[in-house]
Amino acid sequence: MSDLFGEDGGFVTTTVDGFLRWAKSNSVWPLTFGLACCAIEMMNLTAPRYDLAQWGSEAFRASPRQADLMIVSGRLCNKMVPVARQVYEQMAEPKWVVAMGACASTGGIFDNYAVVQGVDNVIPVDIYIPGCPPTPDAVIHAIQMLRERISRNDPKGGLKVNA
Ligand code: SF4
Repeated sequence: MSDLFGEDGGFVTTTVDGFLRWAKSNSVWPLTFGLACCAIEMMNLTAPRYDLAQWGSEAFRASPRQADLMIVSGRLCNKMVPVARQVYEQMAEPKWVVAMGACASTGGIFDNYAVVQGVDNVIPVDIYIPGCPPTPDAVIHAIQMLRERISRNDPKGGLKVNA
């Protein structure tokens, strides 16, 4: 997509598709969905210190139908799998998933029968964030990567944040 404002202050041309991608990448709305200790760091994201509003993502939605980003923050227990699937399916397309932290990405230290060994066994994940817990800065980095991918029209699929 062309630079929206143009260097010489003149008018700009673009495509409808490019404009829609630009709009989508600047209004990624996360779902209010926390599972464990990582969710505390996710809540931190909404604090003024991190100013998530500058990228248009401060509006955590209570309804999956109004959200396009699921941040899986914490370990996913087998009992919660039907809930996670249902919430994911209720989200509108296009939608993205970030696995926040070691537990969501791989099961982390919980190598046992009760915990899913990576949420990508249950729902497709687009970005993985390492750490226990990852800092809010790492989540912001993931959101930035996601915005870039939406702008470039990257196919969906797993990508790891180097935090
Ligand atoms: S990665 Fe660490 S902080 Fe996050 S849910 Fe697992 S144990 Fe908790």
